Amino acid sequence: MTERKTYLLLKRTLVLFLLILPMICASLAPAPVNAQSAQLPVYVVQSGDTLYGIAGQFFTTIDEILAVNNRSIGDTLRPGDRLFIPGFEGLQGVLTTDYVPLGASLRSLSRRTQSEPASLVRLNKFTSQSELFVGRKIALTTSETTQNLQTMPSLLPGQSWMERSILSGQNPWALARLNRLTSPNTALPQDAYYAYSAQNNPNSLAIPGLTSMVIDNLPLVQGGTFVLKVTSEQPVTLMADLAGVQPVFFARDDDSQIAFGGINALQEPGAYPLTIEVTNAEGATYRFDQWTIVGSGNFETDQTLKVDPETVDGDNIANEDALFKQIVTTLTPVQQWSGVFQYPTKGGDCVNSRFGSRRSYTGTDKIYYHTGLDIGWCYGIDVFAPAAGTVVAALPDQIVRGNTLVIDHGLGVFSIYMHLQDFLVAEGDQVQPGQLIAHIGNTGRSSGPHLHFEIDINGTPVNPVIWLNREFP
Ligand SMILES: [Zn+2]
Repeated sequence: MTERKTYLLLKRTLVLFLLILPMICASLAPAPVNAQSAQLPVYVVQSGDTLYGIAGQFFTTIDEILAVNNRSIGDTLRPGDRLFIPGFEGLQGVLTTDYVPLGASLRSLSRRTQSEPASLVRLNKFTSQSELFVGRKIALTTSETTQNLQTMPSLLPGQSWMERSILSGQNPWALARLNRLTSPNTALPQDAYYAYSAQNNPNSLAIPGLTSMVIDNLPLVQGGTFVLKVTSEQPVTLMADLAGVQPVFFARDDDSQIAFGGINALQEPGAYPLTIEVTNAEGATYRFDQWTIVGSGNFETDQTLKVDPETVDGDNIANEDALFKQIVTTLTPVQQWSGVFQYPTKGGDCVNSRFGSRRSYTGTDKIYYHTGLDIGWCYGIDVFAPAAGTVVAALPDQIVRGNTLVIDHGLGVFSIYMHLQDFLVAEGDQVQPGQLIAHIGNTGRSSGPHLHFEIDINGTPVNPVIWLNREFP
């Protein structure tokens, strides 16, 4: 195109635009958004959301979001604000985001959210079913009037939809419609179905004999803690494996089972297979596999630490590690703690080094990762038990760990206190949350007085900050 032609075209476009501008303005005022936006789904802003994050989640740009919502970049985004999301014309309802639950398929997600599988594919640009990795953040549409749904116990082999519905106190035909079944006869034993209920239930896994199995504390990250919670109609034996981590299941008083897992801080971020095997009383085994996402722990790098060479000697480390491994893998079946773990010192803002930091020591090339939280003595040297438990080790003069206490909280969860000056409890003691148990010291591989506070799950150190911020299970 010549320059002259381009000029004429631009001029004509400008004249046309000036002619129709009053019409556009008239149609906009006083409505806050243009007519086209009414066809778009709405996202309700959550606390912590940013325009950048919202644009990324919905494959759009900040400019496009601002345009369809008649907003400018300077406007404050507040939780509860409703934003039209461009690019999804014709999709009805409210957009939400969630992490893909254990057992989810496009069918189960569509039933749970009462939306079309095609809408989920379009919203998330899925190209195959196998992209439903556990813990992946996805977008969903829900109707603002949707009632709570809970998973029905899975169909048992040979059990009909009629029988299952009636056992669950539901109308078989209404239930079939809710679950988008063309006929009640098309229900399958290993598929998740939902019924109206008072509460939402995140379970999406359908295994005969299991009522529910969920993985809690998603998304999974390096150094993260995950929890598998299972309820079953009959006694079952469970096995789970996530990237080589095999959480140990414990029976609870209410006929449910629970297992805690810790993800190694050095596990490369990526997708890993999760396998679950359920064996019923008759010996029949059901196996389930799904890919799971492990995200980055966003760890820092500490400065090289100057320490006594004896404390970085390979044999010394190996001998001591073996002793402690034995202590923190001797599991007890009773949960002793309740609620969130308390901070183990006064204050709570006196951290010298975080969990997971990559670090090295003078005189060696090896890169270590920090297995706990280093707390300074800004508020005195008292160390308190963060939760109820039993002291299972009070070991003085360890070369690396110094004077060290280990408390067993049950179910594979241990808290560990290193470099102490002294102990105020002994092996076998029961401790209560907030009980004074020790004083901060500078013993073992330590370059200044501090408490190394660690939480291990079945022998794997996990980020203790999570335990200080949320209640498990
Ligand atoms: Zn430390």
